[in-house]
Amino acid sequence: GRGAREADEEVQSVCPYCGVGCQITYKLRDNEIAWVEGAGGPSNENRLCVKGRFGFDYVSSPERLTVPLVRREGAPKGMNIDPGNPWTHFREASWEEALDLAASGLGRLRETRGNRALAGFGSAKCSNEEAYLFQKLVRTAFDNNNVDHCTRLCHASSVAALMETIGSGAVTAPFNAVSESDVIIVIGANPTENHPVAATYFKQAAKRGAQLIVMDPRGQALKRHATHMLQFKPGGDVALLNSIMHVIVEEGLHDEQYIQAHTDGFERMRTHLSRFAPEEMEAVTGIAPDVVRAVARAYAKANAAIVFWGMGVSQHVHGTDNARCLISLALMCGQVGRKGTGLHPLRGQNNVQGASDAGLIPMVFPDYAAVGVEANRAKLEALWDHRLDPEPGLTVVEIVDAIHDGVIRGMYIMGENPAMSDPDASHARAALARLDHLVVQDIFLTETAMFADVVLPASAWPEKEGTVTNTNRQVQMGRKALPLPGEARADWWIVQEMARRLGLGWDYSGPADVFAEMAKAMPSLDNITWERLARENAVTYPCTAPDRPGEAIVFGDRFPNETGLGKFVPAEIVPPDEQPDEDYPFILTTGRQLEHWHTGAMTRRATSLDALEPGPTAGLNPRDIRRFGIVPGDTVRLTTRRGEIELEARADGAVPEGVVFVPFAYVEAAANLLTNPKLDPFGKIPEFKFCAVRVEPAATH
Ligand code: SF4
Repeated sequence: GRGAREADEEVQSVCPYCGVGCQITYKLRDNEIAWVEGAGGPSNENRLCVKGRFGFDYVSSPERLTVPLVRREGAPKGMNIDPGNPWTHFREASWEEALDLAASGLGRLRETRGNRALAGFGSAKCSNEEAYLFQKLVRTAFDNNNVDHCTRLCHASSVAALMETIGSGAVTAPFNAVSESDVIIVIGANPTENHPVAATYFKQAAKRGAQLIVMDPRGQALKRHATHMLQFKPGGDVALLNSIMHVIVEEGLHDEQYIQAHTDGFERMRTHLSRFAPEEMEAVTGIAPDVVRAVARAYAKANAAIVFWGMGVSQHVHGTDNARCLISLALMCGQVGRKGTGLHPLRGQNNVQGASDAGLIPMVFPDYAAVGVEANRAKLEALWDHRLDPEPGLTVVEIVDAIHDGVIRGMYIMGENPAMSDPDASHARAALARLDHLVVQDIFLTETAMFADVVLPASAWPEKEGTVTNTNRQVQMGRKALPLPGEARADWWIVQEMARRLGLGWDYSGPADVFAEMAKAMPSLDNITWERLARENAVTYPCTAPDRPGEAIVFGDRFPNETGLGKFVPAEIVPPDEQPDEDYPFILTTGRQLEHWHTGAMTRRATSLDALEPGPTAGLNPRDIRRFGIVPGDTVRLTTRRGEIELEARADGAVPEGVVFVPFAYVEAAANLLTNPKLDPFGKIPEFKFCAVRVEPAATH
């Protein structure tokens, strides 16, 4: 017989959760995942966090969708459906019937309402091949560019700033580069919760003697390893970063030689910064000038310094400005393009880098080729044999508004959950209910699927074959470990069946076939082939030769824009859109937590993770909790101009007074019922990290 820890079979793949992209080994017994071990991938070297190690049994949840569903005649659209018993609102259908209905509903709207009446959301949870096919379907069957995905809600502003200044939206160095850094800045990110394996590299670097500088209004576990912890006032970010740069320029610590050779616009920047002395900014930032000066000196004088940032930087109406500041900081000190240096927006989803690269973005084709540029269209028109729309499409939140305006009438949503993830969720849910035709393709009857006319049962990550691209630009091979449950199908297959019914003559034989076409459309995949990935598991892009591992650190000699120079873009202080006032005196900030992933569709159905964090909580400073005359565990009511939720108060010393932190994974107290949909004008990202809220005890113990 076999021992307790003996598997029938092992399959090496990639973790389905965060952008770290840990390689994992599924240990299979009797066609099920018995346990998971870390594998020797380039980003994790056998390490895993709790999600990767224990968060896999969602795949066998009894709530998995295993047959196509069609809405029953007259069944109301809304979220009052038990996902374990959808039969009240839906009936079972054959694939033929469901696909015909799904596609004909969209096709009819295209005929009667014109090509701008349709939109699609793809997913950063699907493979590169599936993302590529989905955007191709929107651009060639819907005949518009209304295709977006959750990158809009996460790093759209970072990418806007990076494209504008250095001509490339991806990281300039992998996070493991910290092993050669003297100074590491982590700002607006909480890696021990959201990129836990990356955090282990940061801690190791700190142990080795690197200075770790953490900047965030909320405290966090990394604080223990930090040489400096700057808990600045919420919304004080641009002022703080400008004041750091002010000190660098004032004290002559900038790198004249680098600035001369590699940048453009420094003189204008210097003039701009003169107004941001740390002494004058203290009221806005809450950070003592001597601390700002110490941090500025440490960063500028380091032989090699690197900057990491997350949603705390990007999810603001001034998110693009925040990122512009970080880029300017690196440029003026020449802290980019060498070992141990760089700019690294920590990407959230396991494939948000890849899905963006593959073109799930409304203003650009694969590899960020602007849709408005004739030559870009000509290249793809030849490859796809189809005329393409030169007009950039609408973004996630704009699509919701366009539904309310009656412009968009039908949608195809693959693996996204806007009913939970979009800001001002009531507004987003009302939009979903208004659609004439909604097709949702997912593994569960998500909150979004509850509004669908047709639900197509799709594949979970361990049931897929395909590539994904992590935060380090490492393209990795995901392998199929499990059979599909019931009649569920691979996402690429479903997209192809939809495309055929919408009049496209697609005939891909599988993901490898799709990858081969992607490689023709995307220069970033030069020298990276499916066969290579099957053999080597991971290759970094850009890659200069078939026998090289790819370029981990980029832009040593020039930036990939027209001039080859990095551009300084000064940022003014733009305050958060909605300030606390008498009626709504607290600041609400939302985010993730270690145990739960985004809208909770997967992790809340993973038994161990759900046992660790079974319900929604509002993180409040213990002093505020006392002031309310309640104890942790009591219920509080949170009210904003958009909605109200009730949930348990949790004492959290990391949360500053006057602030409440709510994770957005819980449908029973959905944080996004409260959030402000106001957008950053450049990245079109909503301000999830700041809105005015009233907090009051709802019931006491
Ligand atoms: Fe998965 Fe990210 Fe955890 Fe690695 S760090 S195991 S990729 S969730």
